[in-house]
Parts: sequence; structure tokens; C-alpha cells
Amino acid sequence: SLLESAREGVVITRFGQHADIEDTQTGIIHRCNLRRSIESLVTGDKVVWRPGVETLQGIAGVVEAAHERHSVLTRPDYYDGVKPVAANIDQVVIVSAILPELSTNIIDRYLIATEQVGFKPLIVINKIDLLDAEGLEMVKNILALYAEIGYEVLMVSQKSGEGVGELKASLADGTSIFVGQSGVGKSSLVNALLPEVNADIGEVSENSGLGQHTTTTARLYHFPDGGDLIDSPGVREFGLWHLEPEQVTQGFKEFREFLGGCKFRDCKHKDDPGCLLREAVEDGKISVERFESYHKIIDSMSEMKANRQFSR
Ligand code: GDP
Repeated sequence: SLLESAREGVVITRFGQHADIEDTQTGIIHRCNLRRSIESLVTGDKVVWRPGVETLQGIAGVVEAAHERHSVLTRPDYYDGVKPVAANIDQVVIVSAILPELSTNIIDRYLIATEQVGFKPLIVINKIDLLDAEGLEMVKNILALYAEIGYEVLMVSQKSGEGVGELKASLADGTSIFVGQSGVGKSSLVNALLPEVNADIGEVSENSGLGQHTTTTARLYHFPDGGDLIDSPGVREFGLWHLEPEQVTQGFKEFREFLGGCKFRDCKHKDDPGCLLREAVEDGKISVERFESYHKIIDSMSEMKANRQFSR
């Protein structure tokens, strides 16, 4: 009949006034129009949709309503300030690698952004096949530092397959996104974890001529062993957007218990007398590396600000 009953679904990808909706019960993807009343709809949104008669353009239903999100990832937008790109993400997989460079400062920047949005971070060091015994020991020591703070850490090699089983297991619950610098092996890892992805995208695009944008917007995939992935070039760059110095300080999770008690309210945690954070470093409760990394980030932020004011 024309008036089939409403069904539950999830947004696989969204482009313009259309979205590909996966039916929660059948797992089949239907291209849908969106009710005008829907203000915002992004990959990962849970929706109520209603099947209809399929049109020549392949539109097979309409999205009637979106459920509330438990989380949303945004990116800066010239017109709106911020724009949502993906919904209901649980975990951020922060990928770093031996090559091009293993930088704990960059890992820290991703951690701050992840703490800020409230997702669970997973730190992955890829390309460990390139390490000798000494290098391996060094990376283990770096990761031990993060594990001590309470973060989940993994060493993997997409090339040799080492650690990939553990990575699969860590992705098996909820929805993850991969972030990290270019060249660390995100695409290689994702392709290895999702063998059928590329064929899948091609098929959607051919049927309708509407699918051209699917590769540039976010898209949701299911891992064969459980868990979901949201992937898009824009999401991968996920960095230090719209952060204030106070949020950077809060983004260093292990600093939090030492904040607020410094002698001076505007303590810069540098050489200010009575700084509890610096005392914690001296007492070995906070690592020197993380403390220095923190100041490097704060300094680079004030530099950026100065440059921006200068260019006006
Ligand atoms: P992305 O930019 O983060 O998506 O990185 P890519 O997946 O494109 O990988 C960048 C380069 O690293 C490619 O040449 C890959 O073949 C290589 N690569 C990826 N994983 C590994 C690995 O585990 N070991 C080694 N040695 N190279 C890898």
C-alpha cells in the first residue's frame, strides 16, 4: 500500500535533500527524501522513516523525524559558526605512526579535542613493523605513560597484521571514527578492517546519479566483527577547533585534580609561585613530557592569535 507504517533506521550518508537510510530491522539501505521539518540530519542519526513507491530517481521513502543524538561531532563553518558532521559517535581512534613521525604532542592535541567532545579516545600506534628492539622499547615506554593516565593504547602494524586482532576487538562496540595526520595509515587500516567498502560505495553512486557526493560526506560502515565506523575526509582532520586555553588545560585529564588550587587565580602554570600543577610534576604525579606538551600547545595558540590580529 502507499501508506506503509513508519520504521526505524539510521543515516548511512546524507547529501542535500536526500539521505541513504539503513532500515534497523532488515539492514537494507533506502534512498529517502527528508521532511522539511527536519532541521539537521547527519551520518549516524537515528531516524523514523516511511517507505513509499520508488521513484525513477530511486527515492524509496521519506525521513519523517530524527531521534535525539547522544553525541555530535561538529566542524567550523564560515556561515553558521559550527556545523554538525556526524552523530552518535562513541570512540575516537587516534592513529599515530612511526613514519612520518611519532609525535606525542600531536597525540595530545587529538586527546584534548576528544576530551572536549566527550568521546572515548583509543590511541593506536601503527607501522610497528619498522621498529627494531630498541625502538619497540621506546614506543612501549611512551604508551605506558598514556596507559597510566587511563587511556586505552594499542601498537599495530597494518603491514604485518600484528595487533590488528586487538584493534578489531576494541572497535566491536559502538561507533568509532579514525583521526590522525596524513600518512599514518588510516586508510590502510580501514580498508583492511572493511574489505567490502569500496565496491559498496561504487554501487550506490551508479544507480541514481545522486551519489556523487558520497565520498566527500561522512558515511557509516559496519565492521564484519561488530561495531560501526563513521568515515569522511572532513572528520579525519578533526583537530583543535574553537578551543580556549582553559579547555586545553581541562583536556589534560590527569591535570584536573591539581587545578583550581594554585596560589594565583590566573596562574599560567609556568614559573608562578604556588603552582600546584608544577608541584605535581616535581613530585612525579604528572609526567614532564605531558607538562611540556601542554605549554607547547598553549604557546602555539597564543602565537596563532597574535598572527590573526596582525593580519586584520
Ligand atoms: P592515511 O593518510 O592516514 O590514510 O595513510 P595511508 O593509509 O594512505 O598510508 C600511508 C602510507 O603508509 C602508505 O604508503 C601505506 O602503505 C603505509 N603503511 C600503512 N600501514 C603501514 C604499516 O603498518 N607498516 C608500514 N611499513 N607501512 C604502512
